[in-house]
Amino acid sequence: MINIFQPTVGEDELAAVQEVFDSAWLGRGERTKRFERAFAAHIGAGPEHVVSTNSCTEALFLAVRLLGIGTGDDVVLPTVNWVGAANAVAASGARPVFCDVDPRALNPTTDHVDEALTDRTRAVLLLHYGGHPGHVAEIAALCRERGLRLIEDTACAVASRVRGTACGTFGDIGVWSFDAMKILVTGDGGMLYARDPELASRADRDTYLGLKERSGLDRARSDASRWWDIDVSTFARRSIMNDLAAAVGTVQLRRLGEFVERRRAVVEQYDRGFADVEGITCPPPLPEDHESSHYLYWVQLRDGPSRDRLAHHLYRQGVYTTFRYPLLHRIAAYDSGASLPGAEHAAEVTLCLPLHQALSDSDVAEVVRLVREHAAHDVALASTGEGLR
Ligand SMILES: *Cc1c(COP(=O)(O)O)cnc(C)c1O
Repeated sequence: MINIFQPTVGEDELAAVQEVFDSAWLGRGERTKRFERAFAAHIGAGPEHVVSTNSCTEALFLAVRLLGIGTGDDVVLPTVNWVGAANAVAASGARPVFCDVDPRALNPTTDHVDEALTDRTRAVLLLHYGGHPGHVAEIAALCRERGLRLIEDTACAVASRVRGTACGTFGDIGVWSFDAMKILVTGDGGMLYARDPELASRADRDTYLGLKERSGLDRARSDASRWWDIDVSTFARRSIMNDLAAAVGTVQLRRLGEFVERRRAVVEQYDRGFADVEGITCPPPLPEDHESSHYLYWVQLRDGPSRDRLAHHLYRQGVYTTFRYPLLHRIAAYDSGASLPGAEHAAEVTLCLPLHQALSDSDVAEVVRLVREHAAHDVALASTGEGLR
């Protein structure tokens, strides 16, 4: 089976894990700090802006809370989205308001965001579809102009940049995911960037029960007489990363450039393979000054039935594909009755193809061959009218 996602972990990650075993300290410790510092450097931020977490979803919940978003507030987010982002908003008591997206790029434009703003809007929560930065710079400017907070869910965009600026650092808070299906993986894990270092330091306390001071051992070393005493600043949960995950993450971060390079080559092979195929639309080209992490590659078919037939054809031939992300304004818990035509069209015709750094040229050639075969067959079906059923 050619899978849609696949992490690359090997000897170097194993050696790093071995070191953690040998140190006899598996929890959050020096290695986690080291990973945070390396990640901060990767996004061009100082270490005082960055806090690790146990997942991106947890970081999203944290972000909403840090910005004081709650009952009576609206948060605008694209409907093509990770359900955890909307859950984070709704759980705070705020209302998720879904905006439309460009039907080909699956990212919202500034106008899509603008149209969804209400007089209760407190924040915009963006993602970068497939790793493409989209209109994040313009939307950040719109948020500044309107006095709105901006949260970037950077789960797809770990190495994405606009004119050299890392995605995740355009707004007030950015969050990343290192779960098993991402590019940089730690098993599970996440990262949070806050522009305001004061928010980052609150985030740090909020990832560990809201304790005012974390380490009893540090307190003992600084001569506290009862170092086991505690006090809390907020009623927080426990959302920390551990040294096992961080050790793997540190190695993965070193390899990230090489992963993205390989993914870029796969994307180019797909683009070339589909360029002349009638009925297949490739992702829009990246603007000159944008860099993508190439998290997803997607093709768009003539209509929904054709897309579904392609998914089944590929699956029967051993190629697993999917559509990310099911529209949130159409799921029962969030159904708003809104009409968002760009997203609705995209959700019918879009299919995400296998994209990861372990794909060989011949894997990619096989996917291209199968998609082309389907397209030729489907044109024939459509011309006999059969494809319309
Ligand atoms: C994977 C993903 C997440 C969730 O990350 P976890 O670390 O699994 O919680 C959030 N947002 C987007 C866009 C994702 O793709």
